[in-house]
Amino acid sequence: MRSGGTRTVIPVIKPVLGEEEAAAVAEAVRSGWVAQGPRVAEFEAAFAARAGTAHGVAVSSCTTALHLALLLAGVGPGDDVVVPSLSFIATANVVRHAGARVVFADIDPATGNMDAKNVEAVLTPRTRAVILVDQGGIPADLDAVRALCDPLGITVVEDAACAAGSTYKDRPTGAGAELAAWSFHPRKLLTTGEGGMLTTPADALARRARRLREHGMSVSAADRHGSAKVVIEEYDETGFNYRMTDMQAAMGLVQLTRLDGVVARRRELAARYRRLLADLPGVACAGDPAHGTTNYQSFWITLPDGFGAGRDELLQHLLDAGISARRGIMAAHRERAYADVEADLPATDRFTTRSLILPLFHDMTHAQQDRVVEAVAAHA
Ligand SMILES: *Cc1c(COP(=O)(O)O)cnc(C)c1O
Repeated sequence: MRSGGTRTVIPVIKPVLGEEEAAAVAEAVRSGWVAQGPRVAEFEAAFAARAGTAHGVAVSSCTTALHLALLLAGVGPGDDVVVPSLSFIATANVVRHAGARVVFADIDPATGNMDAKNVEAVLTPRTRAVILVDQGGIPADLDAVRALCDPLGITVVEDAACAAGSTYKDRPTGAGAELAAWSFHPRKLLTTGEGGMLTTPADALARRARRLREHGMSVSAADRHGSAKVVIEEYDETGFNYRMTDMQAAMGLVQLTRLDGVVARRRELAARYRRLLADLPGVACAGDPAHGTTNYQSFWITLPDGFGAGRDELLQHLLDAGISARRGIMAAHRERAYADVEADLPATDRFTTRSLILPLFHDMTHAQQDRVVEAVAAHA
């Protein structure tokens, strides 16, 4: 499609950003406090409340949140950590950042998530933690995995990078986790440009996470600044600089007020996709699992064996029609970085090679959606 020489491309996702975010960031700049400060503290409290848990510790990304979560779980060299290969590669990378060994588990093809059986199949005497991913926003069955792991002293970390606004057993995702990690990258539904959060109900874990994200400092720079007395900070362990800025937090506070509306709109558009695509035999779509609701951070479909076009061919056909779709969720064990890890993951291999992610964004029109469905159907 061409208009005035420029092709109108339907994007796969678009962040919902307005003048309110621009004004909030400008206000942080004018305040003179741009590093971690009062807005970060406010965002942490608001996000934790929305996630149904006690503490939020804002950090620079979900990757750094996951790294801290593993350190809080006591993970180190000599330990095994179970992760799904079917995830953005950061889920596996953080295990190596913590010095531990990556063990890949397969997935339930209906949800794209690991279930308790998948985890149980790969446990070793050295398993110290499991990272359970709510892939594409679809909540994983956390209680079932915890019922397996808690008695064995294995910490379950929830990788809720994609899952802000999803629910699990009528509560927000992450609410039932000892440690949950969130992403505010623009590919997710709530963005601060870059950014992340670690949430936990445990006071002691939150306290240590705050120290570790700020060089291991006993008193944060913001608290020292606000004190009427001279405070000399101490350093009891080796920390990191994983801080979020107040400019990012200012944006996050506005984004949080939009979240419910963003999720409602995505669910409405996703329901319409599911109705329209139901006519294509064998095509499976992302949807709500039995135990919760998805925010449809990614609307994926999987193609049956007899489908006309191959997955990559279909992506090219869509691109030719001005539609920016994406391959489905990647599988880390198929990348060279993980070629040395033994993995027998038939459901993951099938899912990653047969799935694609269709465009879904807040102001997508029904006409644009029809164009996508027609383009997929044309190659069925
Ligand atoms: C996006 C994503 C991450 C990484 O998030 P960043 O904030 O970019 O570090 C980790 N895990 C999953 C499942 C993701 O989708």
